[in-house]
Amino acid sequence: MKITFLGTGTSTGVPEIGCRCEVCTSKDPHDRRLRSSALVETGGKKLLIDCGPDFRWQALSNGIDRIDSVLITHEHYDHVGGLDDLRPFCRESAIGIYAEDYVTDAIICRIPYCFRSNKYPGIPNLELHAIHQPFEAAGVEVIPIRVMHGRLPIFGYRIGQLAYLTDLKYLPEEEYAKLEGLDVLVLNALRRDEKHPTHEGLYTALEQIGRIRPKRAYLIHMSHKIGLQADAEKELPSNVYFAYDGLSVTF
Ligand SMILES: [Zn+2]
Ligand SMILES: [Zn+2]
Repeated sequence: MKITFLGTGTSTGVPEIGCRCEVCTSKDPHDRRLRSSALVETGGKKLLIDCGPDFRWQALSNGIDRIDSVLITHEHYDHVGGLDDLRPFCRESAIGIYAEDYVTDAIICRIPYCFRSNKYPGIPNLELHAIHQPFEAAGVEVIPIRVMHGRLPIFGYRIGQLAYLTDLKYLPEEEYAKLEGLDVLVLNALRRDEKHPTHEGLYTALEQIGRIRPKRAYLIHMSHKIGLQADAEKELPSNVYFAYDGLSVTF
């Protein structure tokens, strides 16, 4: 199985527009973060997790030539803003988009022209699937994990020995059992302080990883307030890493 991090930034991306802080002006490419998304390759299939506003550039810069299914964590713009750019991937046949029902409704509101009965030529051929239990996407078994994004219930996903949890503030107690025996856990860590109402900061993310005990963990959805990656990574335990845009991990 392989995961490629297409983006590892929070909703604004890093650099943030107009910011002159040391992270936003850093020359280190690890400090430049597109909106969070990942491509998972397993059993010959390619599953995209989230499709944010940077998707077009992410697909071009990572040479993505095919996508078999898309898993959406929630309806926020930084996770769905690029769905229209799936056009080149669904010319031959429809592409399945999996999300919970209130999210599929939100997608229809966002890009209604893709779901009308009288479609104009060229629009993306998207097939929405509202899911709530373990399901198969392009023949790959996926287990949804309930994640609380503050008060908003959203989904993370487990695929084999990989779990991808983004925009998490806390996990309901019963979800921990679904996260046992992971090789790779992907988890959000917004910044160094913990004051944000809907996202974990770095230190609660590390506590969370300590409880879930994956073999390795990769942090995503960082803002410029995480600090320079080269400095911040010195604080991480040996099996925890900051993901960066373009990183591929095979396991
Ligand atoms: Zn987000
Ligand atoms: Zn900044």
